[in-house]
Amino acid sequence: MSSDFDKQEALILDSVRRFLEREVKPFVHKLEHDDTYPEAMVERMKALGLFGATIAAEHGGLGLSTTTYAKIVELVSTVWMSLSGIFNSHLIMAAAVERFGTDAQKSRFLPRFAAGEIRGGLALTEPDCGTDLQAIRTTARRAGDHYVVNGTKTWISNGIHGQCFALLVKTDPGAEPRHRGMSLFLAEKGPGFAVSRKLEKLGYKGIDSAELVFTDYRIPADRLIGGSEGRGLQHALGGLELGRINVAARGVGVAQAALNEAVAYSQIRKTFGKPICQHQAIQLKLGEMATQVQAARLLVEDAARIYDRGERCDMEAGMAKLFATEAAVACSLESMRIHGGYGYSKEFTVERLYRDAPLLVIGEGTNEMQRLIIARQLIERNPV
Ligand SMILES: Cc1cc2nc3c(=O)[nH]c(=O)nc-3n(C[C@H](O)[C@H](O)[C@H](O)COP(=O)(O)OP(=O)(O)OC[C@H]3O[C@@H](n4cnc5c(N)ncnc54)[C@H](O)[C@@H]3O)c2cc1C
Repeated sequence: MSSDFDKQEALILDSVRRFLEREVKPFVHKLEHDDTYPEAMVERMKALGLFGATIAAEHGGLGLSTTTYAKIVELVSTVWMSLSGIFNSHLIMAAAVERFGTDAQKSRFLPRFAAGEIRGGLALTEPDCGTDLQAIRTTARRAGDHYVVNGTKTWISNGIHGQCFALLVKTDPGAEPRHRGMSLFLAEKGPGFAVSRKLEKLGYKGIDSAELVFTDYRIPADRLIGGSEGRGLQHALGGLELGRINVAARGVGVAQAALNEAVAYSQIRKTFGKPICQHQAIQLKLGEMATQVQAARLLVEDAARIYDRGERCDMEAGMAKLFATEAAVACSLESMRIHGGYGYSKEFTVERLYRDAPLLVIGEGTNEMQRLIIARQLIERNPV
Protein backbone atom coordinates (compact mmCIF):
# COMPACT_ATOMS: atom_id res chain seq x y z
CA MET A 1 0.00 0.00 0.00
CA SER A 2 1.17 3.53 -0.76
CA SER A 3 2.21 5.90 2.01
CA ASP A 4 -0.59 8.24 0.83
CA PHE A 5 -3.02 5.47 1.64
CA ASP A 6 -1.40 4.95 5.05
CA LYS A 7 -1.54 8.69 5.80
CA GLN A 8 -5.19 8.96 4.78
CA GLU A 9 -6.06 5.91 6.88
CA ALA A 10 -4.16 7.26 9.90
CA LEU A 11 -5.96 10.62 9.63
CA ILE A 12 -9.39 9.02 9.47
CA LEU A 13 -8.72 6.59 12.30
CA ASP A 14 -7.41 9.45 14.37
CA SER A 15 -10.55 11.53 13.95
CA VAL A 16 -12.73 8.51 14.77
CA ARG A 17 -10.64 7.86 17.89
CA ARG A 18 -11.05 11.50 19.02
CA PHE A 19 -14.80 11.37 18.42
CA LEU A 20 -15.10 8.16 20.45
CA GLU A 21 -12.96 9.42 23.30
CA ARG A 22 -14.67 12.81 23.71
CA GLU A 23 -18.20 12.36 22.45
CA VAL A 24 -19.08 8.71 22.96
CA LYS A 25 -17.20 7.15 25.88
CA PRO A 26 -18.54 9.50 28.58
CA PHE A 27 -22.16 8.94 27.51
CA VAL A 28 -22.36 5.24 26.60
CA HIS A 29 -23.29 3.91 30.01
CA LYS A 30 -26.41 6.03 30.44
CA LEU A 31 -27.61 5.81 26.84
CA GLU A 32 -27.14 2.04 26.84
CA HIS A 33 -28.93 1.40 30.10
CA ASP A 34 -31.79 3.73 29.12
CA ASP A 35 -31.89 2.17 25.62
CA THR A 36 -31.83 5.66 24.12
CA TYR A 37 -31.10 6.31 20.46
CA PRO A 38 -27.90 8.40 20.30
CA GLU A 39 -29.20 11.32 18.18
CA ALA A 40 -26.28 13.66 18.85
CA MET A 41 -23.74 10.95 17.98
CA VAL A 42 -25.58 10.22 14.74
CA GLU A 43 -25.25 13.90 13.80
CA ARG A 44 -21.52 13.76 14.49
CA MET A 45 -21.18 10.53 12.51
CA LYS A 46 -22.83 12.30 9.57
CA ALA A 47 -20.25 15.09 9.83
CA LEU A 48 -17.42 12.55 9.99
CA GLY A 49 -18.72 10.99 6.77
CA LEU A 50 -19.31 7.58 8.35
CA PHE A 51 -22.64 7.08 6.54
CA GLY A 52 -20.70 7.29 3.30
CA ALA A 53 -17.55 5.50 4.49
CA THR A 54 -17.51 2.81 1.79
CA ILE A 55 -19.54 4.70 -0.86
CA ALA A 56 -17.36 5.84 -3.78
CA ALA A 57 -16.18 9.46 -3.80
CA GLU A 58 -17.97 10.06 -7.14
CA HIS A 59 -21.24 9.46 -5.27
CA GLY A 60 -20.30 11.70 -2.36
CA GLY A 61 -18.82 9.06 -0.04
CA LEU A 62 -15.35 8.69 1.49
CA GLY A 63 -14.60 5.71 -0.76
CA LEU A 64 -12.65 3.92 1.98
CA SER A 65 -11.25 0.45 1.45
CA THR A 66 -12.86 -2.40 3.38
CA THR A 67 -9.55 -2.77 5.21
CA THR A 68 -9.75 0.78 6.59
CA TYR A 69 -13.48 0.49 7.18
CA ALA A 70 -13.01 -2.68 9.23
CA LYS A 71 -10.53 -0.82 11.44
CA ILE A 72 -13.12 1.93 12.00
CA VAL A 73 -15.75 -0.66 12.94
CA GLU A 74 -13.33 -2.29 15.35
CA LEU A 75 -12.51 1.05 17.01
CA VAL A 76 -16.17 2.03 17.32
CA SER A 77 -17.13 -1.38 18.73
CA THR A 78 -14.36 -1.18 21.30
CA VAL A 79 -16.29 1.75 22.76
CA TRP A 80 -19.92 0.94 21.86
CA MET A 81 -20.94 -1.80 19.45
CA SER A 82 -24.46 -0.39 18.93
CA LEU A 83 -23.03 2.69 17.25
CA SER A 84 -21.46 0.60 14.49
CA GLY A 85 -24.86 -0.99 13.78
CA ILE A 86 -26.30 2.40 12.91
CA PHE A 87 -24.01 2.79 9.88
CA ASN A 88 -23.12 -0.89 9.13
CA SER A 89 -26.43 -2.09 7.73
CA HIS A 90 -26.98 1.33 6.13
CA LEU A 91 -23.76 0.84 4.18
CA ILE A 92 -24.74 -2.67 3.10
CA MET A 93 -27.96 -1.22 1.69
CA ALA A 94 -25.82 1.41 -0.08
CA ALA A 95 -23.46 -1.28 -1.39
CA ALA A 96 -26.39 -3.15 -2.96
CA VAL A 97 -27.33 0.02 -4.86
CA GLU A 98 -23.74 0.79 -5.81
CA ARG A 99 -23.03 -2.75 -7.05
CA PHE A 100 -26.33 -3.70 -8.62
CA GLY A 101 -28.46 -0.53 -8.97
CA THR A 102 -29.35 1.35 -12.14
CA ASP A 103 -27.59 4.64 -12.90
CA ALA A 104 -30.77 6.51 -11.96
CA GLN A 105 -30.92 4.70 -8.57
CA LYS A 106 -27.25 5.46 -7.92
CA SER A 107 -27.56 9.16 -8.66
CA ARG A 108 -30.84 9.52 -6.79
CA PHE A 109 -29.89 7.65 -3.61
CA LEU A 110 -26.14 7.31 -3.09
CA PRO A 111 -25.30 11.00 -2.41
CA ARG A 112 -28.14 11.20 0.12
CA PHE A 113 -27.08 7.91 1.73
CA ALA A 114 -23.49 9.17 1.91
CA ALA A 115 -24.53 12.39 3.62
CA GLY A 116 -26.66 10.44 6.11
CA GLU A 117 -29.64 12.48 4.93
CA ILE A 118 -31.47 9.22 4.18
CA ARG A 119 -30.44 6.38 6.49
CA GLY A 120 -31.65 2.82 6.75
CA GLY A 121 -30.64 -0.79 6.47
CA LEU A 122 -31.63 -4.23 5.31
CA ALA A 123 -35.08 -5.77 5.62
CA LEU A 124 -34.62 -9.47 4.92
CA THR A 125 -35.71 -11.45 8.01
CA GLU A 126 -39.36 -12.37 8.63
CA PRO A 127 -41.12 -13.72 11.72
CA ASP A 128 -40.85 -17.31 10.48
CA CYS A 129 -37.56 -17.25 8.59
CA GLY A 130 -34.09 -15.77 8.83
CA THR A 131 -31.49 -18.30 7.74
CA ASP A 132 -33.73 -19.79 5.06
CA LEU A 133 -34.40 -16.52 3.24
CA GLN A 134 -35.92 -18.30 0.25
CA ALA A 135 -38.91 -19.06 2.51
CA ILE A 136 -39.90 -15.38 2.87
CA ARG A 137 -43.57 -14.60 2.38
CA THR A 138 -43.59 -10.85 1.75
CA THR A 139 -44.84 -10.32 -1.79
CA ALA A 140 -44.66 -7.50 -4.34
CA ARG A 141 -47.29 -7.70 -7.06
CA ARG A 142 -46.87 -5.61 -10.20
CA ALA A 143 -49.67 -3.08 -10.80
CA GLY A 144 -48.86 -0.80 -13.74
CA ASP A 145 -45.88 1.41 -12.93
CA HIS A 146 -45.95 0.32 -9.26
CA TYR A 147 -45.65 -2.83 -7.17
CA VAL A 148 -47.99 -3.52 -4.25
CA VAL A 149 -46.18 -4.98 -1.23
CA ASN A 150 -47.73 -7.04 1.58
CA GLY A 151 -45.93 -8.81 4.42
CA THR A 152 -43.97 -8.45 7.66
CA LYS A 153 -40.25 -8.05 8.34
CA THR A 154 -38.76 -8.43 11.77
CA TRP A 155 -35.59 -7.61 13.69
CA ILE A 156 -34.85 -4.76 11.31
CA SER A 157 -31.99 -2.62 12.60
CA ASN A 158 -32.62 1.13 12.24
CA GLY A 159 -36.27 0.25 11.62
CA ILE A 160 -37.61 3.19 13.62
CA HIS A 161 -35.06 5.92 12.95
CA GLY A 162 -34.21 4.90 9.38
CA GLN A 163 -36.12 6.13 6.35
CA CYS A 164 -35.22 3.62 3.62
CA PHE A 165 -34.59 -0.13 3.49
CA ALA A 166 -33.34 -2.70 1.02
CA LEU A 167 -36.47 -4.85 1.11
CA LEU A 168 -36.38 -8.50 0.03
CA VAL A 169 -39.68 -9.76 -1.42
CA LYS A 170 -41.17 -12.44 -3.62
CA THR A 171 -42.22 -11.06 -7.00
CA ASP A 172 -43.07 -14.59 -8.14
CA PRO A 173 -44.03 -16.69 -5.09
CA GLY A 174 -44.49 -19.85 -7.18
CA ALA A 175 -41.06 -19.74 -8.89
CA GLU A 176 -38.77 -22.79 -8.84
CA PRO A 177 -36.02 -22.61 -7.83
CA ARG A 178 -37.42 -20.25 -5.22
CA HIS A 179 -34.69 -17.61 -5.54
CA ARG A 180 -35.74 -16.88 -9.15
CA GLY A 181 -38.94 -15.35 -7.74
CA MET A 182 -37.13 -12.98 -5.35
CA SER A 183 -36.39 -9.28 -5.82
CA LEU A 184 -34.79 -6.50 -3.80
CA PHE A 185 -36.39 -3.04 -3.64
CA LEU A 186 -35.37 0.28 -2.13
CA ALA A 187 -38.37 0.97 0.07
CA GLU A 188 -38.82 4.44 1.56
CA LYS A 189 -41.28 4.96 4.37
CA GLY A 190 -44.74 6.09 3.25
CA PRO A 191 -48.41 5.06 3.34
CA GLY A 192 -48.72 1.29 3.83
CA PHE A 193 -45.23 0.97 5.38
CA ALA A 194 -45.64 0.90 9.18
CA VAL A 195 -43.34 0.27 12.13
CA SER A 196 -45.51 -2.04 14.21
CA ARG A 197 -43.28 -2.35 17.27
CA LYS A 198 -39.88 -1.80 18.78
CA LEU A 199 -38.25 -5.07 19.85
CA GLU A 200 -36.74 -5.32 23.33
CA LYS A 201 -33.32 -6.99 23.48
CA LEU A 202 -30.76 -8.48 25.85
CA GLY A 203 -28.07 -6.08 24.62
CA TYR A 204 -27.24 -4.04 21.50
CA LYS A 205 -29.30 -1.27 23.04
CA GLY A 206 -29.57 2.29 21.78
CA ILE A 207 -29.95 1.13 18.20
CA ASP A 208 -33.56 0.42 17.25
CA SER A 209 -34.65 -3.07 16.16
CA ALA A 210 -38.18 -3.14 14.83
CA GLU A 211 -40.91 -5.08 13.15
CA LEU A 212 -42.07 -3.55 9.87
CA VAL A 213 -45.48 -4.24 8.37
CA PHE A 214 -46.36 -3.63 4.72
CA THR A 215 -50.06 -3.36 3.88
CA ASP A 216 -50.81 -2.63 0.24
CA TYR A 217 -47.67 -0.50 0.26
CA ARG A 218 -47.25 0.96 -3.22
CA ILE A 219 -43.68 1.24 -4.42
CA PRO A 220 -42.69 2.72 -7.79
CA ALA A 221 -41.35 0.06 -10.18
CA ASP A 222 -38.14 2.06 -10.64
CA ARG A 223 -37.18 1.23 -7.03
CA LEU A 224 -36.51 -2.39 -8.01
CA ILE A 225 -32.72 -2.62 -7.56
CA GLY A 226 -31.08 -3.26 -10.94
CA GLY A 227 -34.43 -2.95 -12.71
CA SER A 228 -35.12 -6.64 -13.31
CA GLU A 229 -36.99 -9.16 -11.18
CA GLY A 230 -35.55 -12.43 -9.92
CA ARG A 231 -32.10 -11.27 -8.76
CA GLY A 232 -33.06 -10.20 -5.25
CA LEU A 233 -31.48 -13.03 -3.28
CA GLN A 234 -28.24 -12.67 -5.22
CA HIS A 235 -28.25 -8.90 -4.58
CA ALA A 236 -29.01 -9.36 -0.87
CA LEU A 237 -26.42 -12.09 -0.37
CA GLY A 238 -23.90 -10.09 -2.42
CA GLY A 239 -23.75 -7.61 0.45
CA LEU A 240 -23.36 -10.25 3.10
CA GLU A 241 -19.64 -10.86 2.50
CA LEU A 242 -19.06 -7.23 3.41
CA GLY A 243 -21.60 -7.60 6.21
CA ARG A 244 -19.69 -10.55 7.63
CA ILE A 245 -16.40 -8.67 7.58
CA ASN A 246 -18.19 -5.84 9.44
CA VAL A 247 -19.61 -8.18 12.06
CA ALA A 248 -16.24 -9.85 12.46
CA ALA A 249 -14.65 -6.43 13.01
CA ARG A 250 -17.29 -5.74 15.66
CA GLY A 251 -16.29 -9.01 17.30
CA VAL A 252 -12.65 -7.90 17.41
CA GLY A 253 -13.74 -4.60 18.99
CA VAL A 254 -15.87 -6.25 21.67
CA ALA A 255 -13.21 -8.88 22.43
CA GLN A 256 -10.52 -6.17 22.65
CA ALA A 257 -12.70 -4.11 24.99
CA ALA A 258 -13.25 -7.16 27.22
CA LEU A 259 -9.50 -7.79 27.29
CA ASN A 260 -8.76 -4.12 28.08
CA GLU A 261 -11.19 -4.20 31.00
CA ALA A 262 -9.65 -7.43 32.32
CA VAL A 263 -6.06 -6.21 32.00
CA ALA A 264 -6.90 -3.01 33.89
CA TYR A 265 -9.07 -4.57 36.60
CA SER A 266 -6.69 -7.44 37.29
CA GLN A 267 -3.93 -4.96 38.19
CA ILE A 268 -6.13 -3.14 40.69
CA ARG A 269 -8.00 -5.95 42.42
CA LYS A 270 -5.99 -7.69 45.12
CA THR A 271 -6.49 -11.09 46.69
CA PHE A 272 -4.17 -12.90 49.06
CA GLY A 273 -1.91 -9.86 49.25
CA LYS A 274 -1.25 -9.28 45.56
CA PRO A 275 -2.97 -7.99 42.42
CA ILE A 276 -4.93 -10.83 40.83
CA CYS A 277 -2.91 -10.39 37.59
CA GLN A 278 -0.03 -11.99 39.50
CA HIS A 279 -1.98 -15.21 40.00
CA GLN A 280 -1.18 -17.72 37.30
CA ALA A 281 -4.83 -18.72 36.84
CA ILE A 282 -5.63 -15.13 35.80
CA GLN A 283 -2.55 -14.91 33.61
CA LEU A 284 -3.64 -18.00 31.70
CA LYS A 285 -6.96 -16.31 30.95
CA LEU A 286 -5.31 -13.05 29.84
CA GLY A 287 -2.85 -14.90 27.62
CA GLU A 288 -5.63 -16.86 25.96
CA MET A 289 -7.80 -13.79 25.45
CA ALA A 290 -5.02 -11.65 23.99
CA THR A 291 -4.15 -14.40 21.51
CA GLN A 292 -7.76 -14.77 20.44
CA VAL A 293 -8.13 -11.03 19.91
CA GLN A 294 -5.02 -10.80 17.75
CA ALA A 295 -5.85 -13.91 15.73
CA ALA A 296 -9.36 -12.54 15.13
CA ARG A 297 -7.95 -9.20 13.99
CA LEU A 298 -5.61 -10.89 11.51
CA LEU A 299 -8.46 -12.99 10.06
CA VAL A 300 -10.52 -9.82 9.57
CA GLU A 301 -7.59 -8.05 7.87
CA ASP A 302 -7.07 -11.03 5.60
CA ALA A 303 -10.73 -11.20 4.53
CA ALA A 304 -10.88 -7.41 4.03
CA ARG A 305 -7.76 -7.43 1.84
CA ILE A 306 -9.19 -10.15 -0.38
CA TYR A 307 -12.51 -8.30 -0.60
CA ASP A 308 -10.65 -5.11 -1.58
CA ARG A 309 -8.91 -7.00 -4.39
CA GLY A 310 -12.37 -7.83 -5.74
CA GLU A 311 -11.87 -11.57 -5.24
CA ARG A 312 -14.37 -14.05 -3.85
CA CYS A 313 -13.94 -14.21 -0.09
CA ASP A 314 -16.94 -16.02 1.36
CA MET A 315 -14.67 -18.60 3.01
CA GLU A 316 -12.31 -15.99 4.48
CA ALA A 317 -15.16 -13.69 5.54
CA GLY A 318 -16.89 -16.72 7.08
CA MET A 319 -13.75 -17.71 9.00
CA ALA A 320 -13.25 -14.16 10.25
CA LYS A 321 -16.90 -13.89 11.28
CA LEU A 322 -16.90 -17.27 13.01
CA PHE A 323 -13.63 -16.83 14.90
CA ALA A 324 -13.93 -13.15 15.84
CA THR A 325 -17.50 -13.40 17.11
CA GLU A 326 -16.80 -16.54 19.13
CA ALA A 327 -13.76 -14.68 20.52
CA ALA A 328 -16.07 -11.82 21.55
CA VAL A 329 -18.37 -14.23 23.40
CA ALA A 330 -15.49 -16.09 25.06
CA CYS A 331 -13.53 -12.97 26.02
CA SER A 332 -16.53 -11.14 27.45
CA LEU A 333 -17.31 -14.16 29.65
CA GLU A 334 -13.69 -14.54 30.77
CA SER A 335 -13.42 -10.84 31.49
CA MET A 336 -16.60 -11.01 33.55
CA ARG A 337 -15.16 -13.91 35.55
CA ILE A 338 -11.95 -11.99 36.14
CA HIS A 339 -14.08 -9.16 37.53
CA GLY A 340 -15.65 -11.54 40.05
CA GLY A 341 -18.90 -10.19 41.55
CA TYR A 342 -18.33 -6.75 40.03
CA GLY A 343 -18.53 -8.32 36.57
CA TYR A 344 -22.18 -9.03 37.28
CA SER A 345 -22.85 -5.42 38.26
CA LYS A 346 -24.61 -3.07 35.86
CA GLU A 347 -22.09 -0.44 36.91
CA PHE A 348 -19.25 -2.18 35.10
CA THR A 349 -18.61 -2.05 31.35
CA VAL A 350 -17.96 -5.78 31.09
CA GLU A 351 -21.62 -6.49 31.88
CA ARG A 352 -22.61 -4.67 28.65
CA LEU A 353 -19.96 -6.47 26.60
CA TYR A 354 -21.30 -9.79 27.89
CA ARG A 355 -24.82 -8.85 26.75
CA ASP A 356 -23.71 -7.43 23.38
CA ALA A 357 -21.43 -10.27 22.26
CA PRO A 358 -24.01 -13.06 21.66
CA LEU A 359 -25.77 -11.10 18.92
CA LEU A 360 -22.64 -11.39 16.82
CA VAL A 361 -22.88 -15.17 16.55
CA ILE A 362 -26.43 -14.79 15.18
CA GLY A 363 -26.42 -11.77 12.84
CA GLU A 364 -25.26 -11.79 9.18
CA GLY A 365 -25.59 -15.56 9.01
CA THR A 366 -25.38 -17.63 12.19
CA ASN A 367 -22.06 -19.21 13.09
CA GLU A 368 -23.54 -22.65 12.36
CA MET A 369 -24.06 -21.43 8.79
CA GLN A 370 -20.53 -19.98 8.63
CA ARG A 371 -19.09 -23.41 9.39
CA LEU A 372 -21.15 -24.87 6.54
CA ILE A 373 -20.07 -22.09 4.13
CA ILE A 374 -16.41 -22.64 5.04
CA ALA A 375 -16.69 -26.41 4.54
CA ARG A 376 -18.49 -26.07 1.19
CA GLN A 377 -15.87 -23.63 -0.10
CA LEU A 378 -13.09 -25.86 1.15
CA ILE A 379 -14.45 -28.73 -0.92
CA GLU A 380 -15.17 -26.54 -3.97
CA ARG A 381 -11.65 -25.12 -3.94
CA ASN A 382 -10.00 -28.52 -3.48
CA PRO A 383 -11.59 -30.94 -5.93
CA VAL A 384 -10.02 -34.37 -6.29
C1 LIG B 1 -30.51 -7.60 17.29
C2 LIG B 1 -30.76 -8.18 15.93
C3 LIG B 1 -30.62 -7.36 14.82
C4 LIG B 1 -30.92 -7.89 13.55
N1 LIG B 1 -30.87 -7.05 12.45
C5 LIG B 1 -31.36 -7.48 11.28
C6 LIG B 1 -31.51 -6.58 10.17
O1 LIG B 1 -31.16 -5.42 10.24
N2 LIG B 1 -32.06 -7.06 9.02
C7 LIG B 1 -32.47 -8.35 8.90
O2 LIG B 1 -32.97 -8.70 7.83
N3 LIG B 1 -32.34 -9.24 9.92
C8 LIG B 1 -31.80 -8.83 11.10
N4 LIG B 1 -31.68 -9.70 12.16
C9 LIG B 1 -32.13 -11.09 12.00
C10 LIG B 1 -30.97 -12.06 11.89
O3 LIG B 1 -30.29 -11.87 10.68
C11 LIG B 1 -31.55 -13.47 12.05
O4 LIG B 1 -31.97 -13.60 13.40
C12 LIG B 1 -30.54 -14.55 11.70
O5 LIG B 1 -30.30 -14.54 10.31
C13 LIG B 1 -31.02 -15.96 12.10
O6 LIG B 1 -32.29 -16.19 11.62
P1 LIG B 1 -33.43 -16.72 12.62
O7 LIG B 1 -33.42 -15.86 13.81
O8 LIG B 1 -34.69 -16.80 11.83
O9 LIG B 1 -32.96 -18.15 13.05
P2 LIG B 1 -33.30 -19.52 12.28
O10 LIG B 1 -33.02 -19.38 10.84
O11 LIG B 1 -34.67 -19.96 12.67
O12 LIG B 1 -32.23 -20.50 12.94
C14 LIG B 1 -32.40 -21.09 14.22
C15 LIG B 1 -31.21 -22.00 14.52
O13 LIG B 1 -31.12 -23.04 13.56
C16 LIG B 1 -29.83 -23.03 12.94
N5 LIG B 1 -29.96 -23.44 11.55
C17 LIG B 1 -30.83 -22.97 10.63
N6 LIG B 1 -30.68 -23.61 9.47
C18 LIG B 1 -29.65 -24.48 9.62
C19 LIG B 1 -28.99 -25.43 8.78
N7 LIG B 1 -29.32 -25.57 7.50
N8 LIG B 1 -27.99 -26.17 9.30
C20 LIG B 1 -27.61 -26.01 10.58
N9 LIG B 1 -28.18 -25.14 11.43
C21 LIG B 1 -29.19 -24.38 10.96
C22 LIG B 1 -29.33 -21.60 13.08
O14 LIG B 1 -27.91 -21.54 13.01
C23 LIG B 1 -29.86 -21.23 14.45
O15 LIG B 1 -29.00 -21.76 15.43
C24 LIG B 1 -31.32 -9.23 13.42
C25 LIG B 1 -31.40 -10.07 14.55
C26 LIG B 1 -31.13 -9.55 15.79
C27 LIG B 1 -31.27 -10.45 17.00
